[in-house]
Amino acid sequence: MNEHTLDTILDFHARLAEKAAETKDLHKLVESIISETVNYMNAASGSIMVYDKQSNSLKLYVSSHHPAHKTQKSGLVAEIPVKEGIAGRVFESGRPIVVENAAQAEIKAKLRRKNDSGSFLSIPLKINKKLIGVMNLNRPASQKSFTDLDLTRLKAVDTMIASLIEKESLLDAIEENRREIAGLYEISSILSESNDFTGRLEEFLKKLSDELGLQRLAILKIKRNLDLTVKSDKEIEFDILAAHNLKPTLLQQMFKSVSARMQMQISQSQGLFSTESEVLRPPTLSFEEKDGNIHELFCIPLLVEGQPSHVLLVSRRYLEDDSRQAGKHYRFLYLVSQNLSMAIERENMIRLISEDQDMLYRTNQRNLYFLEISKDLTSTLDPYTILQKAFNNFNKVIGFTTISILLFDDIENSYRLIVQPDEPVSVGYQKKLTQQIFNLFSDFPSDPPLSQENFCKPIFFKPQTHHAKPAADYKHTLHLPIVIGDKVRGLIHLARRHNDPFNPSDLDSTSQFTGIFITSIKNALIHKRTEKLAFTDPLTELFNHRYFQETLSHEFTRAKRYTKPLSLMLIDIDFFKKFNDTYGHLVGDKVLRHVAAVFKNSVREQIDTVARYGGEEFAVILPETSIEGASRFAERIRAAVEESRVIDENRELAVTLSIGVACTSITSCEKPSDLIEASDLALYKAKDTGRNRVTTFKESRLKNA
Ligand code: GH3
Ligand code: MG
Ligand code: MG
Repeated sequence: MNEHTLDTILDFHARLAEKAAETKDLHKLVESIISETVNYMNAASGSIMVYDKQSNSLKLYVSSHHPAHKTQKSGLVAEIPVKEGIAGRVFESGRPIVVENAAQAEIKAKLRRKNDSGSFLSIPLKINKKLIGVMNLNRPASQKSFTDLDLTRLKAVDTMIASLIEKESLLDAIEENRREIAGLYEISSILSESNDFTGRLEEFLKKLSDELGLQRLAILKIKRNLDLTVKSDKEIEFDILAAHNLKPTLLQQMFKSVSARMQMQISQSQGLFSTESEVLRPPTLSFEEKDGNIHELFCIPLLVEGQPSHVLLVSRRYLEDDSRQAGKHYRFLYLVSQNLSMAIERENMIRLISEDQDMLYRTNQRNLYFLEISKDLTSTLDPYTILQKAFNNFNKVIGFTTISILLFDDIENSYRLIVQPDEPVSVGYQKKLTQQIFNLFSDFPSDPPLSQENFCKPIFFKPQTHHAKPAADYKHTLHLPIVIGDKVRGLIHLARRHNDPFNPSDLDSTSQFTGIFITSIKNALIHKRTEKLAFTDPLTELFNHRYFQETLSHEFTRAKRYTKPLSLMLIDIDFFKKFNDTYGHLVGDKVLRHVAAVFKNSVREQIDTVARYGGEEFAVILPETSIEGASRFAERIRAAVEESRVIDENRELAVTLSIGVACTSITSCEKPSDLIEASDLALYKAKDTGRNRVTTFKESRLKNA
C-alpha cells in the first residue's frame, strides 16, 4: 500500500467521520457512506441490500452512482432471493466475492443482472457475527478490475454500515413501539371516560378503525352462560354491545363464519394466548363480502371476570403481502382487547353498584312507607280501622288487587277474613278468593285449626278506586302465615289480576309489613278485650249493667234525634229463688247462663244489646223497634226459654220468664230512666198477672212523671 493510497484511505475515513457527525438521519448517513465509498473505490455504482426475514430475500436499502459514470445503465435489482446472484451467495456464505467480469459471472449463475459489465465486488455486512445484508460495488469494464486488495481498502466500512443499519432498525422498532403504546393509551383512555358506556365503546371502535385502517368492528357479548370450551353445533347467540360500520345482518354473517374457529381457539388455549408468538400470529379467517371484496377477520375473545364472555370482532380489507402489517394490527388489537376487557369488567361493577344503590333507595322508600303505616296504626285502637289504614298504605309499596287478612279473634273465638280490594272485584272473584284462603289455611298447623264452624262470614271493605268493570279473576298470589306468640293465628294473602308475578322482594316487604301491623292488631285486640271485660258480666258473658246504662243513654239520644222508636225489655226469671234453694247456687248460676245463651241466639247481632241488669234480671235494648215488634220479639224469647230445658245431672229443669216491654213511641219519656221505669211497671204487671208472660206498657205517660 503506497502513501498515496494511505492518504486516500485517511481522507476517506475523515469524510465518513464528518458525515457521521453532521447527519442525524441514519438512513441518509448510510446513503452518503455508500456514495463516498463509490467515489473512493472509483466504482460506477454501489448498493446496500438488507435481509428481510418476511420474504427471505435481500432488499435494496440504498444505492449510489458515480457522477463520472452516469451514462452507464446499472439496472439495480430491488430484491434478490437469498442464495441467488452474487449478493445472494455472499449473504448465504458470509464471505466476500470479487469477480473480474460481472456479466460473465452472472450469466454463469443464470442471473438477471445481464446489463452489468465490468468487475463486481460484494461483501457481507455483519454485526456481532449476525448477517444483516450485503454491500455491492460495480466498476465499469473500462476501469481496472476489483481485486482482493480492494477488500482490505474497505476494511471497517462494512462494520460501520452494518452497525448503522442495525441501529436504525432498532430505533425504528423502538419508535414503532412507542407509537403503538401512545396510540393504545390514547384509544384506551376513551374507555375510562364517564357516562354512556355504549357511546364510549362505539367511539373506541371508531378510533381503532381510524388508527389501524380497519373496515368493520364490533364488540359482542356472548349470550347465555355458554360453555365455549365444549364443542357444539349450536349457533352461538350474542348481543351487540357496540359496532362500527357494521349492520346486524352482516355482523351475523361474519360472526357465523368465525364462531366455529373461535370455539376451537378458545377450547385449545383457554381463550388465551400463552406465548408471545401466538399473539403475533393472528388467527385470521377470510370473509367475502357481497361486492366480492375479501376481508380478513380477527376474532379476539375478551376475558371478563376470567370468562371469555365477550368478543372483539374485526374485519380488515385483505391485502396481499401484508402479513407483517396484519400481525402488527393483531398484536395491537390484542393489547387493546385487554384494556377493553378491563373496561367491561369495570362497567359491570359500576352497574352492580348502581343496582345496589337503587335497591337501597327502594328499601329506604319502603321504610318511609312503613314508618307512615306504623304512625297511622298507633292513632287508633280499632282493629278494623288499623287494617284498613295499613292496607291502603301498603298498596303504595306493593301493588295488588286484593289484600286479605285471616285472623283469629279471641273475643269472637273464631277466624275472621277481612279483604281490602284496590278496585271493585266481582262476586266470582270474592268467592274464589274466600275459598282459596279457606283451603290454604285449613292445611296450616294453626291453633286452633280452621273449620267451617269457626270461620266467620268474610268482610269485604269498599275499594278506594272505581273502575267501570269489576275484576273477575286474579292471576298471581302471595301469602304468609301470621304468627302471634308461637302460634299460627292467621294468614296474609295478596292477589294480583295483572300478569305481574310477585317476586322475593315483595315477599320480603309483605313479611315486614305483617310484622308492623301485627303488633298494632295485637294491641288493639288486647284493648278490645280489656274494654270488653270492663263491660261484660263474667258469669253470663252478657254486657253488664254499666254497659247497659251507657248504651241505653246513647240509643235514647239517637232515637230522640232521629225520632225513631226505641224499645226496652226487662226480663225476670220466675221463682228463681226456688233453683237456689232446691239445687244450690251453682245450679242457679247454670240457669242464668242458660237463659243468657238463649237471649244471645235470639237477638240481632250488632243491633240489639242484651245485658244482665242485675241478679236474675236482664234487659234488652231494641233500637228502631216498635212496641209491636218488641212484644213479638219478647214473646219469642219467652217461648224459647219455656221450651228449653236446663240439664243438670240427669235432671231436666224448666225455666220461665216474665217480661215487661215499653217503647218510646207509646210512652213519652224524658230520660232513659223513664223507659226503664215503664218496662219495670210492665214487668210487675206480668208477675202480678201470673208470670211466664209478656206484658207491654201501654200508658202514654208515667203516672208520677
Ligand atoms: P219472682 O221473681 O218470680 O217473683 O221470684 P224470685 O224467686 O225470682 O224472686 P226474686 O226476684 O226476689 O229473687 C231474686 C233472687 O235471685 C235473689 C238471689 O238470691 C238470686 N240471685 C241473684 N243473683 C244471683 C246469682 O248471681 N246467682 C244465683 N245463684 N242467684 C242469684
Ligand atoms: Mg227478681
Ligand atoms: Mg225472679
